Amino acid sequence: MKVVLQNLTKIFPGRSKKPDDVVVAVKDFTYEIPDGALVALLGPSGCGKSTTLNLISGLLDPTKGRIFFGDEDVTDVPAEKRGVGLVFQNYALYPHLDVFHNIIFPLQNLRGEAKLTREQMAERAKRTARLVQIENLMERRPAELSGGQQQRVAIARALVKEPRILLLDEPLSNLDARLRLQTREEIRRIQKETGITTIFVTHDQDEAMSISDRIVVMKEGTVQQIGLPQEVYDDPANQFVAQFLGTPPINVFRGAVRGGRLYIGEDDVLAVPGVPDGEVSVGVRPEGFVLRPDGPLVCRLGRVEVMGRDVSVVSAHDAAAAPTIRSIISAENLPDIGGAEVRFALKPAKVRIFSPETGERIRGTEL
Ligand code: ADP
Ligand code: MG
Repeated sequence: MKVVLQNLTKIFPGRSKKPDDVVVAVKDFTYEIPDGALVALLGPSGCGKSTTLNLISGLLDPTKGRIFFGDEDVTDVPAEKRGVGLVFQNYALYPHLDVFHNIIFPLQNLRGEAKLTREQMAERAKRTARLVQIENLMERRPAELSGGQQQRVAIARALVKEPRILLLDEPLSNLDARLRLQTREEIRRIQKETGITTIFVTHDQDEAMSISDRIVVMKEGTVQQIGLPQEVYDDPANQFVAQFLGTPPINVFRGAVRGGRLYIGEDDVLAVPGVPDGEVSVGVRPEGFVLRPDGPLVCRLGRVEVMGRDVSVVSAHDAAAAPTIRSIISAENLPDIGGAEVRFALKPAKVRIFSPETGERIRGTEL
């Protein structure tokens, strides 16, 4: 089922309760989430991700804007009638109930036409447990489960009502690194198997990049960019998006454009046809550096870190925004690196230029 957000806005009163003291948690969010897609809402803490999710679930009412599930306007439909499954960071399982009873809990309150028999409930619980692969844990209590298993139970409980939409708010944040990786693959598999339109909130760009069909990057309540993960990474709308995506992060330099040439400090690094003269902020992805003895970007060599397939060259440049520049170079055909200086050529496809004032992307005919 597609989910349509139209000018969705949520304004909270500020701490002082004065009329002009307000928090604009979500501002004019408009987007049509395709049927069956897994969409990540990505951004730093406080950017409005949870508020957006709670507006979609009906736990919060919007200040402005409309929400549609398919063609149905659900803006005024109460949360329990929207048919959404919710999963939170803290699994919020009932500690005194075993897994089976945790899963069927939402079914026991169904009334009228939706009411299920005990057998139907057991059948649904079994089917859902099999889907999230916890069917052999049905008699355990939450305390007897690992964090990853608890989160699977929470996902099963959200799915057992056969929701129209699945909403996940930082579902992996309480898991350790290895379980996080495993569980995110699991979420992707379950989402693909069920085909339920899913909105996944995270502050972790790596998580968002790895499992989503589309990424929505947010900052201070405002959508910055929506696109395929690779698209958002390769073609960021602004410097914030460029810096939020990618590990190691994009390297930022103070630069200038003069006569169609891009300068970093005094180094004439690249042709940038079509870019007007002026001061610019330059972003270079770590994989955008090529080691070359005659390369135009002259850096001070810090150290070389061997990472198996690649090596990471850590260096410095006076025009860099950060004390160190991190470049990733393929370990094959690696020239000797030594001495005080290291020189790079830059791959144009990995260089992005922004306005130093607004952070907006500046495009030339080739960048
Ligand atoms: P995120 O989930 O991206 O970390 P939230 O959606 O929780 O961000 O919050 C967005 C902004 O709205 C933050 O500035 C937060 O302090 C504010 N906010 C969230 N809920 C409330 C509330 N109930 N009352 C006042 N301000 C709120
Ligand atoms: Mg949140």
